Amino acid sequence: MRILIVEDEPDLLTSLAQALREEGYAVDTANNGNDGLFNAEGTDYDAIVLDVMLPGMDGWEILRRLRKTKKTPVLMLTARDQTRDRVKGLDSGADDYVVKPFDLEEVFARLRAIIRRSANQTTNLIEIGEVTINTAARNVLLKGKPVELTAREYSLVEFLAVHRGEVVTRTQLYEHLFDENESSMSNLLDVHVSNVRKKLGADFIATRRGHGYCIA
Ligand code: CA
Repeated sequence: MRILIVEDEPDLLTSLAQALREEGYAVDTANNGNDGLFNAEGTDYDAIVLDVMLPGMDGWEILRRLRKTKKTPVLMLTARDQTRDRVKGLDSGADDYVVKPFDLEEVFARLRAIIRRSANQTTNLIEIGEVTINTAARNVLLKGKPVELTAREYSLVEFLAVHRGEVVTRTQLYEHLFDENESSMSNLLDVHVSNVRKKLGADFIATRRGHGYCIA
């Protein structure tokens, strides 16, 4: 899953980006409104963390413009004294908000929830044959036993599982699993797919030649 963070406070931006990367997300960042909107419109993020007060263009304006073309789930970061703004945010198409200063665990949980809702998933558990994926704990069981996956292998499994039954193109996988600084490392995708097959079974991920990958 790939997240965009738009936040102008450098320390907060850095620590949030690092924390989300440690959670296994690919993360892009923008520190002003114009770059934020440019990224948000140009890439299919799985979710956007959007600060309200930003130089250039504020979070509400970004949201208003983004909603003309994209339904990307948006988590707003609001200040404690912006209570009325929160209502405004949810009215103008934000999916949820957290109040600064926030707890990181709360941000993680709310992000998981808005991503889940956008995929019409009602629980944190996805069961596919003998494989169970827990998107809250970010772990995978095979026949009830934990399987050791790297963060990137997990992200691959999760993305394909959320879109199970659909053919996911390589382009989509690059866009959702890698951030803007690493997307050129293209050949790695095959390595991750091959490793997941070794761990979860050769048939777990099907190759649709010329199209992409699919979990049936
Ligand atoms: Ca700000």
